[in-house]
Amino acid sequence: MTKTVDLRSDTVTQPTEAMRAAMLAAPLGDDVFAGDPSVNALQEKIAGLLGFEAALFVPTGTQSNLCAILSHCQRGDEYIVGQLAHAYRWEGGGAAVFGSVQPQPLNHQADGTLALADIEAAIKPDDAHFARTRLLALENTLGGKLLPFDYLQQATGLAKSRGLSRHLDGARLFNAAVAQAAQTGAGPMAEARRIAQCFDSVSVCFSKGLGAPVGSALCGSRDFIARAHRIRKMAGGGMRQAGVLAAAASHALDHHIARLAQDHALAKRLADGLAGIEGLQVEAPQTNIVFVDLTGAAREQSAALLKHLADHGIAATGLYRLRFVTHLDVDAAGVDRAVAVIRQFFNPRGSSHA
Ligand SMILES: *Cc1c(COP(=O)(O)O)cnc(C)c1O
Repeated sequence: MTKTVDLRSDTVTQPTEAMRAAMLAAPLGDDVFAGDPSVNALQEKIAGLLGFEAALFVPTGTQSNLCAILSHCQRGDEYIVGQLAHAYRWEGGGAAVFGSVQPQPLNHQADGTLALADIEAAIKPDDAHFARTRLLALENTLGGKLLPFDYLQQATGLAKSRGLSRHLDGARLFNAAVAQAAQTGAGPMAEARRIAQCFDSVSVCFSKGLGAPVGSALCGSRDFIARAHRIRKMAGGGMRQAGVLAAAASHALDHHIARLAQDHALAKRLADGLAGIEGLQVEAPQTNIVFVDLTGAAREQSAALLKHLADHGIAATGLYRLRFVTHLDVDAAGVDRAVAVIRQFFNPRGSSHA
């Protein structure tokens, strides 16, 4: 049996040999006493790269967003967020549950943005009837979509002019930066910083496309990070010799950013390979995520297709749409195999090289 091509998520990657070596070599201490040199170095590094005063290493992106929202908002405040945003939809409602911070979800436009007029209309007047609108939270990339940079400037400019803080869930900020760099010709790090600087706080995941086993960072001002540090402790996120993980994240920042372009190229290869299959509607990927909808007679076949894929060594998810994610542990041969297996499902008697 050949190795499974795991396209469920970019979280499934195994640390490379070089990353493992960096982890083994990391000097360690107790980070709850601020004494882990590898954690301290990572926090300084990511803050510096993205242009912030300070950063906090946290176990997950979920905890990072929670620390961010609870540091920007008090009980009885609200944050404006997209219906499809991870922080709102996929994190168990944590900000409401643990912080009594109410979300004000807005529908997305087709390009993933929240319409400026909708944001404007959702900001409540200072009146006892309303929760206090405190924060705009955006996500980039959102479902693999790169939010246009001029939109980010406008939306965060609007929020600022109305006295709101701005948070970016940049779990895949570096995918966004690499895609944006392909448009502008600047370097990915310059683009990451340009995006990040529209916001008061930014969360980035090391455990997605960057290929580290565990970890995210929250970046912001020194005061903001001091508040987030207290919330991280409350949330049980104070880790001890966490430098073994921080070293993996630091290695990823040094070695795994530019290569995200390969993941984006493979996503395009997958989408191109699926073009023209009757019953499949493939959304052209902008980064490393390919969404596929089943249409017409194929509509009810997603469970059967996922099983067919699993039976043939291809893993994907279909919680609401079929989703294929490329990453460090997928190559062109794996993508081509996935395409062949899907084609076979729709045309079982067709020639395999069609
Ligand atoms: C994965 C993800 C998170 C949460 O990260 P975890 O480490 O899984 O908690 C947050 N936001 C976005 C956009 C994500 O994709």
